[in-house]
Amino acid sequence: MKAVLDHIGIAVKDLSAALAFYRDALGLEVEAPEEVTSQQVRAQFVPVGDSKLELLEATAPQSAIARYLDKRGPGLHHITLRVDDIGAALGHLRSRGVRLIDEHPRPGAEDSTIAFIHPSSAHGVLIELKQPGIANQPAVRQPPPAISRFTLGELELISLSDGFLRMDGGLMFGIVPKAQWSAVSPADDRNRVTLGMRPLIVRGARTMIIDAGLGGKGDAAFDDTFGVDHRYDLDRALADARLAPEDIDIVLASHLHFDHAGGFTVRDPSGRLRPRFPRAQYIARRGEWEDATHVHSQNAARYQPDNFQPLAEAGVLQLVDDDVTIMPGVRVKRTGGHSTHHQVVLIESGGKSAAFAADLIPTMSHVTESWIPALDLYPMDTLAAKRAFTEDAMAREVLVFFYHDPSIAAGYIREAGGDRRVIPALS
Ligand SMILES: [Zn+2]
Ligand SMILES: [Zn+2]
Repeated sequence: MKAVLDHIGIAVKDLSAALAFYRDALGLEVEAPEEVTSQQVRAQFVPVGDSKLELLEATAPQSAIARYLDKRGPGLHHITLRVDDIGAALGHLRSRGVRLIDEHPRPGAEDSTIAFIHPSSAHGVLIELKQPGIANQPAVRQPPPAISRFTLGELELISLSDGFLRMDGGLMFGIVPKAQWSAVSPADDRNRVTLGMRPLIVRGARTMIIDAGLGGKGDAAFDDTFGVDHRYDLDRALADARLAPEDIDIVLASHLHFDHAGGFTVRDPSGRLRPRFPRAQYIARRGEWEDATHVHSQNAARYQPDNFQPLAEAGVLQLVDDDVTIMPGVRVKRTGGHSTHHQVVLIESGGKSAAFAADLIPTMSHVTESWIPALDLYPMDTLAAKRAFTEDAMAREVLVFFYHDPSIAAGYIREAGGDRRVIPALS
């Protein structure tokens, strides 16, 4: 069982008196106090490196903290260990005869699930196990994935979700120091940040899907490496959008990395790979196809032939050479940078504009110019393409879709005082 120290809970009689020591005398920074009504406590977190102290003051005489103070006086109350899979952890402890206070995990703060181990089994210490919420980002509340619908002139745009994956934070944020990126995208105990995967449906004369998520062909080792969270996946999103795979006429690839093209193919019951969307024509850029099928050491880990070779074998693949119109109102534009032939998708209808930014601006924090993933093959090309894309998006009020953002589907880019930010769009 792998566990990381999340925080140490300290029962105090008087929070402001405790702050006189922890904040003023020790000089530690404190977070805003939090009232946990269900537990009848007021909690104040004091970050210390990767862990925190949690000062706990009772708000009612019958609260567990009040009873603890009566019995034992102020002091160490509990230690919280963070685990990846709390169900598995409890099963493991039970099998070793450890006495548990909670036989089953129960909901904790910020979407986490928690369970307490009895102090009699832990040599006098009350231990709390905690599995963070869906995104394993203790500081950030994770909204559940959902489809979001937008109308753009004559077109309907539906942002779907293929769940979440985790990627090394250094890879995702390039030259940005961890102190900066971890403030907006906290890392887990393996230094990974959570990313969404948000394929986009464009419905007009025909029905198109742009990118298709990770798919479900990965084995347990792959799912562990990338922290794959498929509790909600593209199958469910399509069903929620009242679409069947047969309804898709066109599958358009921004590029062929596994987190975008993984969902292009599925394994049938006999183990054979086939296109996931049986009636669709799949469209990719020829240069990207050439790169994906002739890899080198810098890009090999991103391409998995199982995701795209079966398309060529099934005769459903169309390769395009230039910035062409794919269907009325929808055209592609090469950006390069991330991969040599990475492309974004520009959508126009009724005088309104939208864009699918793919990995040019993977999350809304990447609108800041210097925030470019270290995994981009040509970061200076990304910089130039991003500058042009962003200036155009601001000038024309383009609704920008962020494929990898863990919390929002789309938004408008704004600039104030030299800072760029994204105003989330309501569907
Ligand atoms: Zn990519
Ligand atoms: Zn990607």
